[in-house]
Amino acid sequence: MAQHFLLSAQARTLSLVKVMRLSEEEAYQTFARIRWAQNDGEPFCPRCGCVAVYTYHSRRIYKCQGCESQFSITTATIFASRKLPIRDLLAAIAIFVNGAKGVSALQLSRDLDVQYKTAFVLAHKLREAMGAEMKDRKLSGHVEVDGAYFGGYVRPENRKEDRKDRRLSENRSGKRQVVIIMRERGGKSLPFVCRTEDQSVPVIRARVLSGTTVYADEASSWDALHATYEMHRVNHSIMFQDEGKADTNQAESYFSRLRRAEIGTHHHISGRYLHSYANEMAWREDYRREPNGTQYLMVAAAALGHPVSREWKGYWQRSPN
Ligand SMILES: [Zn+2]
Repeated sequence: MAQHFLLSAQARTLSLVKVMRLSEEEAYQTFARIRWAQNDGEPFCPRCGCVAVYTYHSRRIYKCQGCESQFSITTATIFASRKLPIRDLLAAIAIFVNGAKGVSALQLSRDLDVQYKTAFVLAHKLREAMGAEMKDRKLSGHVEVDGAYFGGYVRPENRKEDRKDRRLSENRSGKRQVVIIMRERGGKSLPFVCRTEDQSVPVIRARVLSGTTVYADEASSWDALHATYEMHRVNHSIMFQDEGKADTNQAESYFSRLRRAEIGTHHHISGRYLHSYANEMAWREDYRREPNGTQYLMVAAAALGHPVSREWKGYWQRSPN
């Protein structure tokens, strides 16, 4: 077992511009070094882990000598049953990581010259791979907590006398959801989606370790957290800053990115997929200081290390419209 590819000198020379100049063979070798990094870029069986494999060079298919299953470089990864050449997948990742506010499926379909449906599913697969590292994440130290509402926009009536007060819950669409962000100062972020800020308290308790100092605004939902954590509260209405300690700037910068993605890139985010975009933007915030070449390799490694997507594999076959 050699040094992990992502830490090696080759990894640092792989820039975004070079992706488009790669031959399909070079792209394949890049993929192989990431996919099979644990075995120095040489194929091993995704089913039983056996390193003794037969190679069918003509078709780039392998057969395990142990369990006899056949596999390709993308078998059992999020790119399983791919239709695109490997260089195009690498290009998709390069385009995707370069969009600080996210990348729309429409833009991806134009840049890659693929159908909208292909780009839509591909982008969601990348989001799923990016979000996977947050699955079991626990936070500690100094953590900012905040919530913001997304979706459920109600169009005002044309005539003023017909308009309803959209601040009242009975006049809302019922589709509004709140994204909660928990963000370590100088560390990692963890978003999740729920109906109200109040409902998020048990999730925060499960994900933020006791002994943590929590920073939150004056919303009454967070009063319940005082029982578990040392709390610092910010009162936005009077700009009280508790000697500069009790701000939630990290949480706000996360929401600013998510809001810009919603308004500037996607124009509308379906409530069903809000969690995916919330994860994507947390990933982008956490790694914003990494060079884009590094981000590109991280996403490629996450995608090739991620199992077949239950949600996105065969998505259009199941829901043709
Ligand atoms: Zn095997």
